[in-house]
Parts: sequence; C-alpha cells; structure tokens
Amino acid sequence: MGKSPLTFDIMAGAKKKRKADVIPTALVIGAGIAGMQASLDIADKGFRVILVEREPTIGGHMAQLDKTFPTLDCSSCILTPKMVEVGNHPNIELMTFAEVIDIRGEVGNFHITIRKKPRYVDLRACTACGLCAEACVQRERIPNEFDMGIGMRSAVYIPFPQAVPQAYVIDPDSCLMVAKGKCGKEPKCRKACSANAIDFTQKEETVTVRAGVIVVATGYDQFDPKLKPEYGYAKYENVLSGIEFERLCSASGPTQGKIQPNGKEPKRVVFIQCVGSRDKTVGNEYCSRVCCMYTAKQAHLVRERIPDAKITICYMDIRAFGKGYEEFYDRVQRENILFRRGNPSEIYKRGMSLVVRGEDTLLGEPYEEEADLVVLATGLVPRKDAGNIAKVLGLSHTPDGFFEEARTEETIATSRAGIFLAGCCQGPKDISDTVAQASGAASLSCIQLAKGSS
Ligand SMILES: Cc1cc2nc3c(=O)[nH]c(=O)nc-3n(C[C@H](O)[C@H](O)[C@H](O)COP(=O)(O)OP(=O)(O)OC[C@H]3O[C@@H](n4cnc5c(N)ncnc54)[C@H](O)[C@@H]3O)c2cc1C
Repeated sequence: MGKSPLTFDIMAGAKKKRKADVIPTALVIGAGIAGMQASLDIADKGFRVILVEREPTIGGHMAQLDKTFPTLDCSSCILTPKMVEVGNHPNIELMTFAEVIDIRGEVGNFHITIRKKPRYVDLRACTACGLCAEACVQRERIPNEFDMGIGMRSAVYIPFPQAVPQAYVIDPDSCLMVAKGKCGKEPKCRKACSANAIDFTQKEETVTVRAGVIVVATGYDQFDPKLKPEYGYAKYENVLSGIEFERLCSASGPTQGKIQPNGKEPKRVVFIQCVGSRDKTVGNEYCSRVCCMYTAKQAHLVRERIPDAKITICYMDIRAFGKGYEEFYDRVQRENILFRRGNPSEIYKRGMSLVVRGEDTLLGEPYEEEADLVVLATGLVPRKDAGNIAKVLGLSHTPDGFFEEARTEETIATSRAGIFLAGCCQGPKDISDTVAQASGAASLSCIQLAKGSS
C-alpha cells in the first residue's frame, strides 16, 4: 500500500528538525567517591567537567571510613590520591561549598544556576598552615561534623587533614565576626594569617553554567538512630552509630584510632545489625546492603585492637553477597566473635554497664548481655533534601525515597534524557558497586557528549 501525501509531508518535516550543538561539558553533582569517579572518567576522555560539591571539601562518606571491607584496605589511602587527581585535573572545574539551585533546558544544552557560599578564606591565597585555627577565639570549641561531633574544631577550620581543596573555611554560624559582626578589637585569625587569606568581605554568589549532560551523585545520609529510642542512642554516651565508630577507629580521627569512647577501653562490645533497615516500624523496608559487612569489619577491628574483648554481633540474617564477602565473614567468625541471632528489643543502664536485652531466636530463649560499648549498624537513607534536588532536576523517586532509575534493569539512566545516576543516591550500595555505576554513568555521558549534536 502506497503512502499518502500527508505521511510524506510529516516525514519531511521530521527530517528538517533542527539539530542543536551539544555543549561538550558534564555537570556532576556531589563529590563523594561516585561523583569523583564519574568526573575523572569523563575528564580523562577530554570533556570538561564542572563538579559541584556542597561541603567545603570533596570525599563524601568514604573519607570518614577507617578500613574498607572485604580487603581491609585503608580507605583514605585509596581515596586521597583520587581527591588530589580531581583537584588538579585540567578538565575538572571544582566548585566546593556550592549547590545547584535551578536547571533549565534539555539534553545537550542544560542551563544550570549554582549558588556559591562565601568561604571567607581566599582559596588561592590560603596555605593551610593552620595558624588561623590556632588563633581563633573559638579554638577547639565547636563539634567537628566530619568526626561526628566526637572531636572538636575552631570556627575557622579544615574538615580533615587531606581535604581538597587544601584550604581553611570559616563556619558562619560559629564565627563571631560573621555571626555578630565583631570579634574583639580585630579578628585574631586575620591577624595570624601572614598570607592575607582571611576575607570577611566575601558574599554569596550565583553563577550560571551550561552543560550537555548531568550526573547526579549526591549519596546518602546515615539513618538517624534516635528514631529507635529503645536503643538509647543520644541518651547513653557509649551507644554509637556506624559512622561514629568509623571515626573512633581512624588513625587520623579524634582518638588517633584508639577505641576509647569516654577515654576508657571497652572490654565488652555488642554490635546490633539492621538499625533502620528492613524495619517497617521506621518505614524502611529495604536492606541497606553494607551493614552486615561493615559490622563484620568493625568487629574485626575491635578484635585486632582489644584482643581480650568479648564481642557479640546481634543479627537477623547475614547478607554476604559480594565478591570475597562470604570468605571475609567466615574469617571474622573464626576470630572468637559470638554471632547471636535475633535483634535486641531494648538497651538500658544497670550501674555503669549497658544491658542489651532481647531474644535469641536460635536458642528460643530471652537473654540479657552487659556491654561497655554498643555499636548500631545504622542503615543508609536518602539525603534529607533529596526531594529538593529531585524537584530541581525533574526526577522522581522509588517508594524507598532514592532516585528512580529509567528501568529496573537500567540503573544509570533516568526518565529525563541526559541525566544519569551514580552511587548511593540511586540506592544503598558498597564502594565497588558505586565505582562501577559511576564509570557507567561517565560512559553514557561521554556517548552523549561525543555526538556533537542532539
Ligand atoms: C558505617 C559505614 C561503613 C561503611 N563501610 C564500607 C566499607 O568498608 N566498604 C564499602 O564498600 N562500603 C562501605 N560503606 C558504604 C560507602 O560509604 C558507600 O558505598 C559510598 O560512600 C557511597 O559513595 P557516594 O559517592 O555514592 O555517596 P556519599 O559518600 O554520600 O557522597 C555524596 C556526596 O555528594 C554531596 N552532596 C549531597 N547532596 C548534594 C547537593 N545537593 N549538592 C552538591 N553536593 C551534594 C555530599 O556532600 C557528598 O560529598 C560504609 C557505609 C557506612 C554507613
């Protein structure tokens, strides 16, 4: 059957559709391991990358970890060289202390508005000597967020020694000069800085950039253990979250790697799995995928550093699905660590000790176990502000709150052409899966950018 004249007209019209040039730049939002990996892969292919990170340094959660399962590699030994590479790469423009506030346009030509917060320190002039922090009148008085409040910092600070960019930043909420317009006769930090890097005249700035594709790599938040009040988190100082325990173990952390909450070495340590994961009472039905293994790793670190400690892991079931995970779990089991099936119902205090109470579902009997330290395997949840980013980007989320992929078998693309996902913003995952997905997002980005027109 021949085609009608109308069909020919429509086809000719479609052929005539103007092709627009693709801006050969990728915008990457979030500079944890996912955003860094995606940026490096795209930049190494010769495309320009604008990497936007809202914190004063790049690195994300991986920078807070001590060792990584299942190999027990030192986290910062893997991460620091990548951070330096990102900071020095000629094709990567790094914007820290910045956030994307608006996106218009479409694949090939996105117009992005970015808000840059004032750092009150000139990035190019700062030599990271630290004299400003020593001189600060708020010296070591402010809880350090990077150390989860276990360590202290000044109002002018560097989040951690390997931070990139290697520059100090002033916290506007605790700096008297920024918050109250006055800090003695003259701010002591400015006087101490021979490089003249302190600059209280800096103001918030808004910049507009263009990019052909966008990679979203905004990561996760730790589940707030206060939502499980039965575990006494924030009530008892020796009940810690997973990331707090990582900072306690870290050689560059607030205790130089000594596992000594409140300055005392614990001899009885209990780990509790699935805190905020697989738990309908807090609305999280999903498994956070990393907690079984990071608890095994943390229990191993206790055994290594406190050989005579009594260590118990309370679990629902053990999920050791990744390469080398089952072998690692076997190894930890052989380190004289008791695995008790059944998550506790309550933690309370008796004298100086914590008491963990629950039911052992293998033995079918209730138990009470005394502890000096309890570590909660806090799960991974969507970022608190994930809804705002989703709105700005025009993305949707799955019922668990993580960003929605295009299809279940295609976890990188989104429903919006030219916007890709990488890392835990799409769902909980370990570092190796995060890196693999980030490289995938970079690859799909490069295919789009290499087209030249769309
Ligand atoms: C206690 C604990 C221990 C763990 N141990 C291990 C381990 O041993 N081995 C392992 O494989 N995995 C481990 N994990 C998992 C590991 O942390 C993650 O796989 C990894 O950090 C995910 O990286 P990411 O880049 O996706 O997210 P993140 O590390 O969360 O990075 C996201 C980045 O995006 C930035 N960001 C967020 N929102 C915005 C925004 N709106 N604009 C700009 N920037 C934004 C954030 O500031 C951050 O820098 C552990 C997790 C926990 C909780």
